[in-house]
Amino acid sequence: MRIIVCAKQVPDTNEITINPETGTLVRDGVPSILNNDDANALEQALQIKDEIPDTEVIVITMGPPQAKEMLQECLAMGADEAILLSDRALGGSDTWATSNALAAGIRKIGAYDLIFAGRQAIDGDTAQVGPQIAEKLQVPQVTYVKEFSLEKDGSVVVKRALEDGYEKLRVKLPCVLTAIKELNTPRYMSVPGILKAAKADIKVWSADDIGVDKETVGLKASPTNVFRSFTPKPKGKGITVEGDTPKEQAANLLEDLRKKHII
Ligand SMILES: Cc1cc2nc3c(=O)[nH]c(=O)nc-3n(C[C@H](O)[C@H](O)[C@H](O)COP(=O)(O)OP(=O)(O)OC[C@H]3O[C@@H](n4cnc5c(N)ncnc54)[C@H](O)[C@@H]3O)c2cc1C
Repeated sequence: MRIIVCAKQVPDTNEITINPETGTLVRDGVPSILNNDDANALEQALQIKDEIPDTEVIVITMGPPQAKEMLQECLAMGADEAILLSDRALGGSDTWATSNALAAGIRKIGAYDLIFAGRQAIDGDTAQVGPQIAEKLQVPQVTYVKEFSLEKDGSVVVKRALEDGYEKLRVKLPCVLTAIKELNTPRYMSVPGILKAAKADIKVWSADDIGVDKETVGLKASPTNVFRSFTPKPKGKGITVEGDTPKEQAANLLEDLRKKHII
């Protein structure tokens, strides 16, 4: 089997703090990491490789040259190959343009059985790229995958998380699946993996290499534009609900919520 995993290097948003004086984000020294859901996507691909040893796992990312570090981490976890799409022509892409570039990169890789992506990237937070790649490649998709099994007839059966339960779906290959953290626990990098990754040849492909129409990638081609970004105001102080007994406190809380039209 050939499995392609879309992975994104993101700033570790747990490490981002707000400067209390200026109210702006403190980004200095914030480490870049493999996006959490993408680690689950890669882990699922590696579990298939554990079961079916001639499986090839290829990780693809679009990003700046430093995204190579994240790709090395993927190789050290057990991926066979890593590809970086990096080109000024791709910079400033919104999700539509990002998925155009990734779909073109995947077409260049050639035949595949499965594509895994994360549900969502913790920086852009849109959860749009996976489904858009599926659309552009004209293959079925299942998002929010929390359980996965490969069937003998070559299809996959997945459980897709919903707000109040799950859907069980059978999908024909090839397809795109987006992973959530409930799917598995990503493995650590291994020492032989780290040594292999240090010597690995990470392919870097430009917009020309993937043959993507330049009118469909980059800032100018992006249908959306970020006009302003700002740090949200800190939340106001909490309030203590008064009352002599828990019952009275609950009644006061309800009244307050009703007054504010929250319930
Ligand atoms: C006008 C505009 C300009 C922008 N300019 C820039 C910019 O200059 N630089 C910049 O870094 N971002 C820029 N962005 C953000 C960029 O759109 C997003 O980083 C990108 O489209 C991914 O969207 P997301 O982070 O919401 O990913 P989601 O849709 O939440 O990601 C879902 C999954 O898709 C896959 N995926 C997403 N992005 C990638 C990727 N790059 N490579 C591989 N897999 C991926 C991962 O598996 C991920 O888990 C810009 C956005 C807009 C709207």
